[in-house]
Amino acid sequence: MRRSEGRPELGPGKLAHCWGIALFLLLISSGCARSSSTHASEGKPAAESSAEVAPVLADTPVPEFNASRAMEYVKEIVAFGPRALGSEGHKKTENFILAHLKGDQVERDDFEITTLEGRFPVHNILARYPGSKDGVIVIASHYDTNWPLRTENYVGANDGASSSALLLELANQMRGKKRDGYSVWLLWDDAEESMKLPWDDAESLYGVKHLADKWQTAGTLKKVKAFLLEDMIGDADLNIERDANSTPWLEDLIGGAATRLGYQSHFFAREIAVTDDHAPFLSRGVPSADLIDLDYGYNNVFHHTIHDTLDKLSPKSLAIVGTVTLQTVYMLDQR
Ligand SMILES: [Zn+2]
Repeated sequence: MRRSEGRPELGPGKLAHCWGIALFLLLISSGCARSSSTHASEGKPAAESSAEVAPVLADTPVPEFNASRAMEYVKEIVAFGPRALGSEGHKKTENFILAHLKGDQVERDDFEITTLEGRFPVHNILARYPGSKDGVIVIASHYDTNWPLRTENYVGANDGASSSALLLELANQMRGKKRDGYSVWLLWDDAEESMKLPWDDAESLYGVKHLADKWQTAGTLKKVKAFLLEDMIGDADLNIERDANSTPWLEDLIGGAATRLGYQSHFFAREIAVTDDHAPFLSRGVPSADLIDLDYGYNNVFHHTIHDTLDKLSPKSLAIVGTVTLQTVYMLDQR
């Protein structure tokens, strides 16, 4: 993924500034109450304001998610080594995912791409868990690592492994249960990473671009009620961004789900704009959201480096994002 340019950022510094101005306005004149409250709501963390629009679900149980099992999956994927296209580690990861989906409704989407670096096979993996309601919620994660970093023993513990492991644990939670809601499709997509660095829009997102085209042609796309993307969600210091490119009402719903579970302090303190695997679905009108933490180490210093390793991650973060995702699915079912 890459952080998009030219979009406004609402960083913590700016938040403090907004609050300061709001407080000042409130103090100097009661006549300014309206404008100051408007200003304050702009500067307020989105998770708090979204709680106002999200339904209150006091009677719903906290979703189940086995975080230590998910963390074991992360370790096993990382142990395969770099997962660049065409590599041994990529093949092993693919087989690992498939082995954990035995008995599930699995569909493979295999094709070849021509890139700046040559021709490569690409393998998207989809597992379907049928529901009673007409429509589909897709939850996706890429599992590849960058081609340019293939010789550096770059393993992408957070970038690719954490979210792919999270999806395997979501599969455990979906398996064998009757879904009283939309069907859930888990997607481990391939070739997300750019074939050259810095990021190149034309040389990346190959897996999802192919699938979005295929689903558009087949008429599948209009059945997709929401596309939820997980990326870099294992950081022990978890700060999920509010993505300005994602569908606002879906971001609000996620913020409401986080608030419902008491995890709002890990969500939406900062707003940035991200180009990621949700892009081809967003551009085709599918409500889409990216759950991503692009504050991975101070100033995101671990991202796309050999320092993206297991020791930076926490099972607690997997549990937070896993349960918030399941709560979001539940809230989508109720809409
Ligand atoms: Zn990446």
